[in-house]
Amino acid sequence: MKFESTLEFAVNLDEKDPLKNYREQFYIPTFGEQEVAYFCGNSLGLQPKSARNFLEEEMLVWEKMGVEGHFKSKNPWFSYHKLCKPMLAELVGARESEVIAMNNLTSNLHLLLVSFYRPSGSRYKIMMEAGAFPSDQYCIESQARFHGFEPDEAIIELTPQPGEHILKTEDILTAINDHRDDLALVMFSGVQYSTGQFFDIETITASAHKAGVMAGFDLAHAVGNVPLHLHDWGVDFAVWCSYKYLNSGPGGVGGAFVHENHAFKPDLPRFAGWWGHDEENRFLMQKGFRPEKGVDGWQLSNATVLSQAVHRASLMIFSQAGMVNLRKKSMLLTGYLEYLLRNIAGSAGVLHIITPTCPEARGCQLSLVIDKGGRKLFERLTDAGVVVDWREPNVIRVAPVPLYNTFRDVFGFVQILTDSLNENN
Ligand SMILES: *Cc1c(COP(=O)(O)O)cnc(C)c1O
Repeated sequence: MKFESTLEFAVNLDEKDPLKNYREQFYIPTFGEQEVAYFCGNSLGLQPKSARNFLEEEMLVWEKMGVEGHFKSKNPWFSYHKLCKPMLAELVGARESEVIAMNNLTSNLHLLLVSFYRPSGSRYKIMMEAGAFPSDQYCIESQARFHGFEPDEAIIELTPQPGEHILKTEDILTAINDHRDDLALVMFSGVQYSTGQFFDIETITASAHKAGVMAGFDLAHAVGNVPLHLHDWGVDFAVWCSYKYLNSGPGGVGGAFVHENHAFKPDLPRFAGWWGHDEENRFLMQKGFRPEKGVDGWQLSNATVLSQAVHRASLMIFSQAGMVNLRKKSMLLTGYLEYLLRNIAGSAGVLHIITPTCPEARGCQLSLVIDKGGRKLFERLTDAGVVVDWREPNVIRVAPVPLYNTFRDVFGFVQILTDSLNENN
C-alpha cells in the first residue's frame, strides 16, 4: 500500500479497518480527560472489558459454593485449566494436548529445562541469543550451574555481526552446525524483546534437529503478536506469558507447549506435582507419580482459576478476531509507523529503527535507537500522553497493537515525536 503522511489518510485507514470495533472491547487508560496513545501492549496489554465478568463469575461461585466449586459449578475448577486449551492451541499452532496455561513464564522455563536440557558427555552447551531477557539469562545460567557447569563455559551467546543489531538466520545456522558436537540445547526467543526481531523458528528448529539437538523458544513477545505453528515446525518446547500481547492482566498465568513427540513419554524426566498426575487417579492420593498424558503431565499445582478466568476472556477475543486478520492489520499498522518515522525531517541521524525492515521478520514492535537526548525525548512523549517504553541506554520501544491501536494513534505519536525531536535539537 502507498502510505501518506496526513491525518485524513490515517483516519481513512481506520474507517476501512475490518477490526476497528475491537478497540471498544478494551479499556484505554486516560491521561487527564483524554485517552492515552498506548504503545506498551508488548509490556502490559490492556484490560478487556469482558475480563471482570469472567472473574466475577468465579468469585461468585467461590462466594456461594465454597469448595463445591471444584466439581459442581458451571465451569468446575477441577478441570478449569482445560478451558483455555482450544484457544491456546489455535493461537500457537498446536494440538490441545500440547498446550497448557499454568504457572508463570520463568517457572515454566525452569520446568521444561529440567526435561529438555539434558547434558550428556561432551554435549552440554546451550546456544542462545546474546542480550536475551534477563530472566531467561538467569534461568539458563542457573540451570547450567545446577548441572555443574560454569555458565561462561556452557552458554554460547550469539551476537550480531559488528555494527549490526540483528542476528542473521544464516549465522545462527552456521553456529549450530559448528557446535553440533557440544550442544545440548538451542534456545531462542520467538520475538526478541529488545530489537523486535522475529526469529525464524522453523528454520532454527530444523537446523537444531539436524544437529541432533533440542530446540526451545521463549514466546513472551511472540504469542498473540505473530503467527505461530509450533506443532508443524517441530518445536520441542516453548513457554510464554499472558500479560503482554495476550492482555490477561499483571502477573497473569503463563503458558507452555511440549510437542507430542515428547509429551506422551511418561519416562521423560521432570519435576512433578499432584496436578500433573494421571487425572483419573489423582484423588486416590497414592504413592508413585504417573504423569497425565500430554503437556498436562508437567503441571504442578491446581489451576490458578482467578487468573485463568481473565485469560479466557482475553483469548476469546483473539479467537473471534483471528490471528490471520490481526497479523494482516498489524503489518499495515507497523508498516505505517515505519513509513512515518522514515519521513520525519528532524529524525535524520538522531533516530534509527533497529527492528528488521522486512515485515515477516518482525512483530508489531519497532525499537528506536535515539543517539542523543533519548531519555528527555521519552519524558516529553510521556508528558504528551504517549505511553511507550524506555530501555537503557538509548532505546524507545513502540508497539502498535492491532486489537486496540489505530492508525490515528500512530499518526499522532509521530507528530508528537517530531515536535519533541525539534525541541531536542
Ligand atoms: C516478559 C518476559 C519475561 C518475564 O518473565 P515472567 O516469568 O513472566 O516474569 C521473561 N522472558 C521474556 C523473553 C520476556 O519478554
